[in-house]
Amino acid sequence: MNESPYAQAWADYRKRRKITWLVPAALLLVSLEADKLSPQAPLVLFVSSFVLYFPLNRWYEAWRCPQCGRRFVETRNAAGGSECAGCGLAKWAADHTPERAQPGATI
Ligand SMILES: [Zn+2]
Repeated sequence: MNESPYAQAWADYRKRRKITWLVPAALLLVSLEADKLSPQAPLVLFVSSFVLYFPLNRWYEAWRCPQCGRRFVETRNAAGGSECAGCGLAKWAADHTPERAQPGATI
């Protein structure tokens, strides 16, 4: 199998992003009908969704760029896409992206 070098890292990124949004959203949705379980259930689920969101979001934001190893902070590039603020790796890039040229540098 000829998998790209960053495929596993991006799969982990997608998983973290999904879990960070889906778990709190699911709790919110369930809280809408939770009064059938007990009178306190809607409030408990509503509060839990917000309480859970913060550690999940920290876990998602702690994801490391597969190229430079720094925390992946997204920034917009000239083409309108997203890239790593640390090294310029394009979001979803299959493999190495050359380091961003420094202003004033000759290529
Ligand atoms: Zn990077």
